[in-house]
Amino acid sequence: MQDLTHYIDGEHVPGTSGRFAEARNPATGEVIYKVPLASPSELDAAVERAAIAQKEWAKVNPQRRARVFMKFGALINEHMEELAEILSREHGKTIPDAKGDIQRGLEVVEVCMGLPSHLKGDYTVDAGTGIDLYSMRQPLGVVAGITPFNFPAMIPLWKMSPAVACGNAIILKPSERTPKTSMRLAELFVEAGLPAGVVQVVHGDKECVDAILDNETVQAVGFVGSTPIAQYIYGRAATNGKRAQCFGGAKNHMIIMPDADIDKAADALIGAGFGAAGERCMAISVAVPVGQDTADKLVDTLVPRIESLKVAPYTGGDDVDFGPVITAQAKDRIEGLISSGVEQGAKILTDGRGLSIQGYEDGYFVGPTLFDDVTPDMDIYKEEVFGPVLSMVRQDNYEDALQLIQDNAYGNGTAIYTADGDVARDFVARVEVGMVGVNFPIPVPLSYYSFGGWKKSGFGDLDQYGPDAFKFYTKSKKVSARWFSGIKDGAALNFKAID
Ligand code: NAD
Repeated sequence: MQDLTHYIDGEHVPGTSGRFAEARNPATGEVIYKVPLASPSELDAAVERAAIAQKEWAKVNPQRRARVFMKFGALINEHMEELAEILSREHGKTIPDAKGDIQRGLEVVEVCMGLPSHLKGDYTVDAGTGIDLYSMRQPLGVVAGITPFNFPAMIPLWKMSPAVACGNAIILKPSERTPKTSMRLAELFVEAGLPAGVVQVVHGDKECVDAILDNETVQAVGFVGSTPIAQYIYGRAATNGKRAQCFGGAKNHMIIMPDADIDKAADALIGAGFGAAGERCMAISVAVPVGQDTADKLVDTLVPRIESLKVAPYTGGDDVDFGPVITAQAKDRIEGLISSGVEQGAKILTDGRGLSIQGYEDGYFVGPTLFDDVTPDMDIYKEEVFGPVLSMVRQDNYEDALQLIQDNAYGNGTAIYTADGDVARDFVARVEVGMVGVNFPIPVPLSYYSFGGWKKSGFGDLDQYGPDAFKFYTKSKKVSARWFSGIKDGAALNFKAID
């Protein structure tokens, strides 16, 4: 077991609160890190130091800032194997999946390499006689990022990179269950030339988060995690006058039309339903086949493929499909929801409960679980399971399938599998969901677009990374200027159009 520290001003600073969390390797159950939980005074001190660092960082011209991102990107690539090992050990996902996690974060770092272009303002010469009108984007100051356990590299990189690119300093509070990947990334950022103090990694729980929300220097909060916490943080941040974007949970549906390629749809459902043990906010957890015939064919195709999946620790070879879930509590919760599905009348086709892996009996493994005949009133449908569980809700026609999605409380991601362009276009236009896939199961937008869900999956009006992030992490200033070169203009008491 390693004693973790906070990472303040580029130094490893031990916690002083006397409160700690334990982070475990989910494949073995072994405690790997003792994680200090920051007190409000530790958090406030980190913010104070960040504010000093931010003032200098904001003076660094955009091109020089961009060069730090170029070096940072190179260092992430150089350290890919090391980072993936740290990530898989604390999260449990396979090494290829860990590399994907890092890669999708790295792509946001790459967009920040072009930050001078993203931060340009507008300029209108002679907006009126002798009047120039222009806008500029200025940093907010100190901001905070609060991140979940399930993407230990990608989401901290989504938070750190645009915030810092815009000239801010950031307090990053990673999940106490996957704390080490963020630490290593912050160290590499400083190694790349980022002045110490511009990224401060502070570990903590609710006490630390509340201190962030109440700290008057912190100007903005970017949160990713479960919906109840997202909603809470959004409310408290807004009450305290902060800018906030808070992304929550999900229940993502995939419609399979009768004309869909069943083979491809089944593969998509398996990848999107069970990859990373279903612990992705963009996981497909509900399959919606249209028509009994489509559903029957889907079941026949899915079941043998699901039964052949290999669930094992990330160290278990190249053919491991997915690893354990994050904690013993998560395993209990997921197995409890599976049991509720059985009790409430869903038909269980593959049952992942009670899975034990030889040599890893203390690990938190849940096998791939497929339910048929799920109805919207069942807990297995209503709750975000966040585990390797796929529920099939049969529908008779496209309109009913679409309505099911519209009625769901979440709106993060969705997909449709069909060969009919008209149906696909209708779906894209009408569905009340933020990210939509057409014959594409996990439609995470690339880093030069922005990422965000609707309804209870996202609170706030701007999305993460891409163009929205450059807006979220800056405030725009608008200037109207003129120079008096012989223009005669008496006092104007009326609010009049510029001419
Ligand atoms: P979580 O809500 O438990 O924790 C997220 C963060 O909030 C952590 O840093 C945690 O320390 C902190 N936190 C936990 N309880 C808190 C409290 N009471 N007060 C203040 N802060 C608190 O989420 P998780 O279990 O780490 O992550 C899984 C969830 O995240 C799922 O619901 C998943 O759908 C969601 N998620 C959403 C997105 C998205 O972009 N919409 C992306 C990834 C994950």
